[in-house]
Amino acid sequence: MTEKMLKFAKIGKQTPPKRKVDQRKEDFEEIYEEFITGKAKEQSSRCSQCGVPFCQIHCPLHNNIPDWLKLTAEGRLEEAYELSQSTNNMPEVCGRICPQDRLCEGNCVIEQSGHGTVTIGSVEKYITETAWNNGWIKPISVKNEISQSVGIIGAGPAGLACAEELRKLGYDITVYDRYDRAGGLLIYGIPNFKLEKFVVERRTKLLAEGGIKFTQNFEVGKDISLDELRDKHDALLIATGVYKAREIKIPGNNLKNIFPAMDFLTASNRKGLGDKVENFDNGNLNTEGKDVTVIGGGDTAMDCVRTFVRQNAKSVKCLYRRDKENMPGSAREVLNAEEEGVEFIWLSNPKEFIGDNKVEKLIADKIKLGNPDETGRKKPEIVSGSEFEIKTDLVVKALGFDPENLPQLFNCSDLSVTRWGTLKTDFKTMETNIPGVFAAGDIIRGASLVVWAIRDGRDAADSIKKYLQKKINQKIKAA
Ligand SMILES: Cc1cc2nc3c(=O)[nH]c(=O)nc-3n(C[C@H](O)[C@H](O)[C@H](O)COP(=O)(O)OP(=O)(O)OC[C@H]3O[C@@H](n4cnc5c(N)ncnc54)[C@H](O)[C@@H]3O)c2cc1C
Ligand code: SF4
Repeated sequence: MTEKMLKFAKIGKQTPPKRKVDQRKEDFEEIYEEFITGKAKEQSSRCSQCGVPFCQIHCPLHNNIPDWLKLTAEGRLEEAYELSQSTNNMPEVCGRICPQDRLCEGNCVIEQSGHGTVTIGSVEKYITETAWNNGWIKPISVKNEISQSVGIIGAGPAGLACAEELRKLGYDITVYDRYDRAGGLLIYGIPNFKLEKFVVERRTKLLAEGGIKFTQNFEVGKDISLDELRDKHDALLIATGVYKAREIKIPGNNLKNIFPAMDFLTASNRKGLGDKVENFDNGNLNTEGKDVTVIGGGDTAMDCVRTFVRQNAKSVKCLYRRDKENMPGSAREVLNAEEEGVEFIWLSNPKEFIGDNKVEKLIADKIKLGNPDETGRKKPEIVSGSEFEIKTDLVVKALGFDPENLPQLFNCSDLSVTRWGTLKTDFKTMETNIPGVFAAGDIIRGASLVVWAIRDGRDAADSIKKYLQKKINQKIKAA
């Protein structure tokens, strides 16, 4: 083993090249190029093959990282792919957009010894893209069809992972989604420069070819009630995500040209997919030539500012009430935004929007960070007399998301929710208080990550399988 691996002291860390800033600002394509085979092998060979692999422990899917790195270093790519896909339904997606610095790579032992982490995410992407290019990825082929059916509400990563796992076992699966395309936030939230749409469409096409039925433009609560859907299936999964934008309660919030982040990102993604988007085509959601300000410091805010850069906004500012070190967004994405010319106004809090009919400027206060609050983060405190103004033609609010009121939307007041409005589920089985109705992804966690949604989808599939087997056994006993 030592021959091929443990090369971290001799070989330095390298990520696949990033496209030049001037070039990448001109389009919406992904900014990272691919590893060439030699580089992927070389970078994999840096792994120290730890006895207790912290990367694996800190990957929400517990991917068998050291083993697939070793197989890659040895050039055994088909085996590397088989192993990697056995724990992850979308390795090419996670390889691209997981915040690896907080998960697998952030816990790599050689990173902690100062040699620079193994570039796990890029290798994961490389292995899976190689598998797609070589035709190793095939639709599900079911040996024994099972007559029991499962309805899945929501075609985001949680719903799709659950659908795939259950379909592999032979269950009859229908995925319902209120949008016209499957993929959830992978399609209409996350921009192309992080995740190109062909990557998502390729996956959903494969799932459909494997016998999963998709019913798009179908909103549970509007087109059917939860109770009616329960009658159609033996079990249900709710994986509807969280979409209610958090609001900002300051004077002037009702002025024109102040929008929630998802309006922008959805419009931009739809344009990229070739759709007609009235509110973009009439100029409202197009930031070309405008001074734009985004309020917020998370990944959604970063996706917005970088979208505006690509739309040729005149200036792009990001206002955030804490400092760079205390930003919730991934450090990698903040750096990308800085490189692309976004101006960050740290330690600042919006106070008032000013304008005649539409927003013209934003008044903000300077902030100092006080003692840590109950969450452990330093509390922002307003510095008195520090008011300043920013000229802006358009403001985007990216302050996070809360769950919609599902019991009301689903016309099912019995459905239990937590005090945050997320669905209440049994910790072990992921079943809600309604028998046979399970839940997964952001709707139980609050706004989270794709990799956690996949993990939930897989866990829910396992519980649903057990529930359905029990149901069959009870029928047999009763007969
Ligand atoms: C702008 C943005 C950028 C992000 N970037 C990253 C990133 O870089 N890396 C990362 O790991 N995570 C990122 N995330 C988070 C990630 O996208 C989510 O955690 C993940 O998509 C949650 O998956 P999900 O399946 O639970 O829900 P979703 O992906 O939200 O899918 C839910 C689906 O349910 C459907 N639905 C909702 N209600 C109904 C209904 N009543 N009837 C039928 N269908 C319904 C919706 O149409 C949607 O398709 C980002 C999120 C946003 C908003
Ligand atoms: S799924 Fe995400 S956390 Fe896990 S190995 Fe891949 S990139 Fe790392």
